[in-house]
Amino acid sequence: MSEKTIFEKIIEGEIPSYTVYEDETTYAFLDANPLAPGHTLVVPKEPYERLNDMPPELVGDVFSTAGEIADAVEAATDATATTLAINNGEDAGQEVPHAHLHIVPQTAEDGPKS
Ligand code: 5GP
Repeated sequence: MSEKTIFEKIIEGEIPSYTVYEDETTYAFLDANPLAPGHTLVVPKEPYERLNDMPPELVGDVFSTAGEIADAVEAATDATATTLAINNGEDAGQEVPHAHLHIVPQTAEDGPKS
């Protein structure tokens, strides 16, 4: 069995995190190094490395959940918009080899951060 990713350890509670949302397939938690307050990561519970490794139905679940979380993040912060971003592969800046979507709150004043 391959070593668990940091995000699996977070999902299983071995590494503490601030949980934003959880259901059968998807987990969301605050980023430890936020680009803005409320920066949230949305991940499939199964440790697919990249978006393109995930079954289409799971991609649909994660994205539809991410849309709802983006609304909640905006409501909970002073953000008026969110950037949803995926670093899909090491050369694109993916540091954790467990597919994840960043939700970064944005305001008109500070301009896009991601
Ligand atoms: P990537 O560069 O792979 O797209 O983003 C990985 C993200 O995971 C980074 O924004 C980083 O701050 C976050 N991260 C890495 N390790 C941890 C951790 O142990 N806990 C939390 N909450 N976030 C983490």
